[in-house]
Amino acid sequence: MKIVVCIKQVPDTEAYIKINSQKTSIEESGIKYIINPYDEFALEEALRIKEKLNNAETAVITLGAPRTQEALRSALALGIEKAVLIPQEDFILDNFSSAFILAKTVERLGYDLILCGKQAIDDDMAQTGGIIASLLNIPFVSLATKIEFIDNSQIKVHREIEGFTEVFKIKLPAVISAQKGLNEPRYASLMGIMQAKKKIISEIKIQDLGINPENLIKTKLTRLEYPSPRSQGKILDGDLKEAAQKLVKFLREEAKII
Ligand SMILES: Cc1cc2nc3c(=O)[nH]c(=O)nc-3n(C[C@H](O)[C@H](O)[C@H](O)COP(=O)(O)OP(=O)(O)OC[C@H]3O[C@@H](n4cnc5c(N)ncnc54)[C@H](O)[C@@H]3O)c2cc1C
Repeated sequence: MKIVVCIKQVPDTEAYIKINSQKTSIEESGIKYIINPYDEFALEEALRIKEKLNNAETAVITLGAPRTQEALRSALALGIEKAVLIPQEDFILDNFSSAFILAKTVERLGYDLILCGKQAIDDDMAQTGGIIASLLNIPFVSLATKIEFIDNSQIKVHREIEGFTEVFKIKLPAVISAQKGLNEPRYASLMGIMQAKKKIISEIKIQDLGINPENLIKTKLTRLEYPSPRSQGKILDGDLKEAAQKLVKFLREEAKII
């Protein structure tokens, strides 16, 4: 059973994000990066499956700048056995080209189960898992909250919808995207961190996959903008009765809502 987890390194949720001067991306300097939180659920699930089945092999892959090696090393520290970086620094890719590169890499590594997060919290596209599954012509279930093994060739995947739980039975190989609640991700142990420092992170170059990403790009981000500033609030002074009268007057005469 070969399990491949796709992880993306994203800015820390606490990071202060500034748009770059070309208005096409963000200013990278000074930003702390983390593993995309939904990918942590995917990593944890891979580890749990490995612990349950005695024939599972786990690998983690990421497509990105050299700094993304940190994310791979953190995954190794958790107990993932193999890490692969597909280096790509230039900010030229889109969803389809990124997913195409990931799908080709997974094909090269071999796979029975591909796990990813439901979405990356920076670009929020929520497309990668679905595109990988389409390219490999295998099933895809999104937003999984539980994965159960029936046997080595079939799994049950639970997902929550408004008021219900859906349970799918699917044949492997398949792609599953992780939703919050799938599990409780563990922390790396000190020993895991020390061992991960010695592990080798392999590299697969995009050119070695026989891909020219520029031929695959289907969408182009033309501009990144800040949301328009919110108009200033209005403070109504006076006691409660006076303030309520002023509010009604304002809503009727100025805002024209009532
Ligand atoms: C090197 C590079 C260059 C880029 N250049 C551009 C650009 O010029 N213009 C532009 O608009 N966008 C660019 N992007 C962003 C790119 O379009 C999106 O990151 C990509 O399409 C995925 O969308 P998303 O990040 O919203 O992921 P989602 O589809 O929301 O991610 C879902 C899941 O897919 C997996 N995943 C996503 N991205 C990766 C990854 N890189 N490696 C491994 N697993 C992943 C994770 O498991 C993640 O949880 C670039 C990205 C990369 C890595």
